[in-house]
Amino acid sequence: MTIALVDVRKTYNISGSEVFALDGVNLTIPTGEFTAIMGPAGSGKSTLMKILGCLDRPTVGSYTLDGQEVTHLTDAALAATRKKKIGFVDQNFSLLPRMSALQNTTIPLIYAGIGKEERYERAEQALLTVGLDKCLRQRPNEMSDCQRQRVAIAQALVNNPDIILADEPTGNLDTKAGDEIMDVFSSLSQQGHTVVIVTHAPDIARRMCRVVHVRNGRIVRDDKI
Ligand code: ADP
Ligand code: MG
Repeated sequence: MTIALVDVRKTYNISGSEVFALDGVNLTIPTGEFTAIMGPAGSGKSTLMKILGCLDRPTVGSYTLDGQEVTHLTDAALAATRKKKIGFVDQNFSLLPRMSALQNTTIPLIYAGIGKEERYERAEQALLTVGLDKCLRQRPNEMSDCQRQRVAIAQALVNNPDIILADEPTGNLDTKAGDEIMDVFSSLSQQGHTVVIVTHAPDIARRMCRVVHVRNGRIVRDDKI
């Protein structure tokens, strides 16, 4: 079991009153599963993804990742776990405008302290994986939305994480581009990555092997297809 959340709660304090963003979530995701998270706006999907991605911690509850309890790790240890195990594709990905696709993809490796030659080799490999090997030198403004999203996925892949998390990665794309991006995630799943994607689109969720429905900070349905 890669991911196990037990009775996870997340509370935000907004000017004195408490908001229950997650209100008792139990979720296990085995290695290699291809899972969609669906639910209305404000239901807690992004909060859940940030906790899964070790970008935030539960207020209460347990998160075991590859058998290790991560809720009590120091900030530095949590960040190290994230770098090693998780690739996160954010809703609002931002590529550096003056850098090529290849240079943008090397950025996570700079933070990981990898030498230049290896950075460029691995970035090129990641861009090949997402089907952008013909666009290595292009800058973000010379690419389509779909291509830019592929670069963001390459950035998430370049540290070779077991787990890929994506928060509405097709939200700003047209249907055709969305389908192409889903093909990329599908093939990552087939290569053995554990992939979890937040989506609003039932068409997209239908392509996955499991759909978890969230409402008011709770899991209300969990369909395995
Ligand atoms: P979703 O991604 O499903 O739209 P979120 O996880 O972003 O939902 O938000 C769930 C609830 O938690 C919402 O009521 C939201 O306003 C609140 N929330 C999320 N993040 C924060 C934050 N950083 N500070 C305060 N409230 C937050
Ligand atoms: Mg969200």
